[in-house]
Amino acid sequence: MKLIFIGAPGSGKGTQAEIFSKELKIPSISTGNILRSEVKSCSELGNRIKDTINKGILVPDDMIIELVMKRIKEPDCKNGYILDGFPRTIDQGVVLDEKVNIDKVIVFNIKDEDLIQRLGGRRSCQKCNIVYHIKSKPPLLNNECDLCHSKLIIRDDDKIDVIKDRLEIYNKLTVPVIDHYKKIDKTHFINCTDCIEENTESIRRCIYEN
Ligand code: AMP
Repeated sequence: MKLIFIGAPGSGKGTQAEIFSKELKIPSISTGNILRSEVKSCSELGNRIKDTINKGILVPDDMIIELVMKRIKEPDCKNGYILDGFPRTIDQGVVLDEKVNIDKVIVFNIKDEDLIQRLGGRRSCQKCNIVYHIKSKPPLLNNECDLCHSKLIIRDDDKIDVIKDRLEIYNKLTVPVIDHYKKIDKTHFINCTDCIEENTESIRRCIYEN
């Protein structure tokens, strides 16, 4: 099954993509995680995009399209995948539509004020990419990753000024992608609540319905 999860930063799509990746036994492809690991490894690409990522600005379409097209050809994608964070612009969506027959598009609806509150409480493990929230998904030990025990951080792009810019970019460039997918019947809308399990159940209903 090939799925697209679209939602604003902080809507919980990454958390849900991980849950469904395990449930459906298909990889969750987070373009944000791919790019952050390039930055962390100080690769040539990583050094080039570091400032862009930290400011929450989108990297160029041709760069991200190439990365995703290469990633979905890998053997672990043979039974499908979940795209988390792609497509984020109309041009990315057009290329994807040309190359891939997507089964379902899940759109995460959430109000901007809820997003700001959620992103402000977000803490991330740089090593395993797991995202926690101080209220809705706290780590077992204070500020420590449950899995690898690394210290959790607030990502540069989760700081309040950058959050506002990211939401502006989302509304300007990604909402038109949603408008584009609205026209096809494989698109489903989830009204996100603060309860992760409730959101999982809503998505499950969309994914398994015929
Ligand atoms: P995310 O973790 O999905 O919020 O992504 C973090 C950052 O990676 C974004 O703010 C962008 O700088 C970059 N990024 C991720 N996905 C894309 C994409 N599809 N197109 C352009 N830039 C992206």
